[in-house]
Amino acid sequence: MQELSINLENLWSQCILEIEKNVPPQTFSTWFKPIVPLKLFDEKLVIQVPSRFHYEWIEEHYRNLLEKVLLDVLSYVPEIQYTIKLDDHVHSPAIPEIQQNTLQLNGSYKKDDTRLNLRYTFENFIEGSCNQFAKAASLAVAEAPGKTNFNPLLVYGGVGLGKTHLIQAIGNYVVQKGKARRIRYVSSEKFTLDFITAIQNSGTAAFSKLYRNVDVLLVDDIQFFVNKERTQEEFFHTFNELHQKGKQIVLSCDRPPSELKSLEKRLISRFNSGLITDLQVPDLETRVAILQRKAEQDNIQIPSEVIVFVASNVTTNIRDLEGALIKLLAHASLNGKDISLDLTKRVLRDIIKRKNTNLSIEIIQRIVCTYLDIKEDLVRAKTRKKEVVVARQISMFLAKEMTNFALKTIGLHFGGRDHSTVIHACQTIENKINKQKYFAEEIEEIKRKIELAI
Ligand code: ADP
Ligand code: MG
Repeated sequence: MQELSINLENLWSQCILEIEKNVPPQTFSTWFKPIVPLKLFDEKLVIQVPSRFHYEWIEEHYRNLLEKVLLDVLSYVPEIQYTIKLDDHVHSPAIPEIQQNTLQLNGSYKKDDTRLNLRYTFENFIEGSCNQFAKAASLAVAEAPGKTNFNPLLVYGGVGLGKTHLIQAIGNYVVQKGKARRIRYVSSEKFTLDFITAIQNSGTAAFSKLYRNVDVLLVDDIQFFVNKERTQEEFFHTFNELHQKGKQIVLSCDRPPSELKSLEKRLISRFNSGLITDLQVPDLETRVAILQRKAEQDNIQIPSEVIVFVASNVTTNIRDLEGALIKLLAHASLNGKDISLDLTKRVLRDIIKRKNTNLSIEIIQRIVCTYLDIKEDLVRAKTRKKEVVVARQISMFLAKEMTNFALKTIGLHFGGRDHSTVIHACQTIENKINKQKYFAEEIEEIKRKIELAI
């Protein structure tokens, strides 16, 4: 094959020259210089990077550039595999067996196989009261796929709380421990797309073979099945066939399935025959643990005051926590500085929302109710009338966003509701903000009014 005759170092230096032209010198020396090319075979390029963080940074920010440059130099885009250096002896590009001293990152398994990402494992899924039960149930399913009562297992929760991580961890565990042979992970969108393509092209036989011939089927984000009737129908049959054969089905969803308005009743009743469990927003203790563990994984020292500061201020979800950490590490490493509390405050200024100590929950309630034209006492009363519920949820959400009151205190201001009601309200509003531009604008407008009032 052509690529065998290409000298790897030569090729890489051509790539590096190109990259150097495209990025600032600091970026180049921080992120690209340390890369060591190891192997090019079977249209795969293996490169070594200094840390997991380094890998994630490149994947997130420079993947396109890397692919473009490789395309120019090689005339095709190889699959890029990363390894990280586990000890200092491993730096020669000539190591014969890349697996030996390196930890392979990235990468799905072989093309068109399980579609799992090896990054998502149970070992690096950090546990707290918010996700303990869901993790235990997932592990039980991974130990004995199709053999527990948890079939299907459905995990639901808001964005960034670990649904994809958890259900892929099941897949990876099953593969690694050889608990089952055929595993397939798919997003509901991909499932839909495959189905539509099958109808348009070859007919559905190949599609059925792909999805009904597995031991474990993991379907992510099933909320996207809503309003897709034919896909739901197909999914229903796939589900039944697998279930009857004792195969394991694992699903994730961004809300409780009973709230999926136009999902067929018969599907929902199938889900109820297994186990439905949720992932909640992590509490402070868990957020601290997550940041500590992630820093450890990357071999990076972060003072505990910084960890506590980030954990206290980034309260939304785990993805945002990771984002804050990555931003922080990038700034520190680009500027060659230690991570101090000062630096953290500066770097995360725009992520961390300004919280106002003068703002009372009553002011928020008053402004929200005036805006929505609702009598203010109603948000503190028992009524479940739709417009009151919305006003109540918006007020709870803004109280959490804009003040430092504990969830429990916020709940008490709404006629003695408990903290889980507040969490639910916040998630509902966040989902709505993410989905409806118009609604997001309304919330911004209310926020502005509140800010003017204080
Ligand atoms: P979701 O699918 O619910 O939107 P993801 O599974 O994509 O969320 O998680 C977002 C990010 O947070 C991922 O990088 C994931 O690895 C990380 N993450 C989520 N939960 C945990 C956890 N309990 N421990 C460690 N990392 C987590
Ligand atoms: Mg996800």
